[in-house]
Amino acid sequence: MLDEHDKYNRYRTSTGRKCMGRQLAGKKWRLITIEMSSQENKTCPYCAETIPAAAKRCPRCRIWLSFRSLRHPLVGVFVVVLPVMAAYFMMGYKLLNHFQMMMNPPPFYSDFPGSIKVLESRMNWADTTDGRFLFVTGIVTNQSSASWRGLEFDIRFFDSNGQMIDAANGRSLFTILPGNESAFRVSVKPLLSSNDYSSFRISVSNARSAKGPF
Ligand SMILES: [Zn+2]
Repeated sequence: MLDEHDKYNRYRTSTGRKCMGRQLAGKKWRLITIEMSSQENKTCPYCAETIPAAAKRCPRCRIWLSFRSLRHPLVGVFVVVLPVMAAYFMMGYKLLNHFQMMMNPPPFYSDFPGSIKVLESRMNWADTTDGRFLFVTGIVTNQSSASWRGLEFDIRFFDSNGQMIDAANGRSLFTILPGNESAFRVSVKPLLSSNDYSSFRISVSNARSAKGPF
C-alpha cells in the first residue's frame, strides 16, 4: 500500500502534467496515467514546489498555507509584528512631539506682561433661584503675538469710600488669538449686600499658552 506521502512523491517526480499513479481496479492495483489540470496543482509560495491545490500545509517545507492555522507565517505578522510596529510608531510620534516641545517651548504669559487688556467691563446683578449673583462682563484684547487660553481674571470690589471689600477670581475657557478680541463673563457669589459694591477693578493676571499641553 502507498501512503499519502508516497503518492505525493510520485506526482512530484513525474515530468510535465502527466503523473503516474496507482488505482485499485477490482482487487488488483494497476498503474494509471492521470491527466492533471492546472487547477489541481499550485506552487508553494515558500519553497516554490508544485503541490496539490487542496493542500492546507505544504508537504515539502511543512509551512501552513491556511490562514486558519496559527502557524501560518502571515498570522504571526498580524498578531505580533504589526502591533509591535504600531507601538514603535506611537513611541516615535510621542518622542518627536516631546522633542519639538523642547526645541520650541510654549511661551509663558510672564514674558508678555499686560499684553491681554480688558477693553471694557461692567458689573451686573442677577436674581436666580440660587440667590443673588454678581457678574462682571466685558471684552478683552490680545496685543501679543502669541495665542492664550485659560485667562485668569483678578477682580477687586470697592465700597463708596474706595475701600476694597471683596475679591473674586475667574478663569476663561476660550482661546484668544494674536490681535483678537473676546467677550467674557465672570460670575461671583457676593458675600455682602449689593449696596456695598460700589465699584470694581478687573485685570488679567495670568494666561496659558494655547500651544501648551494643559
Ligand atoms: Zn513549501
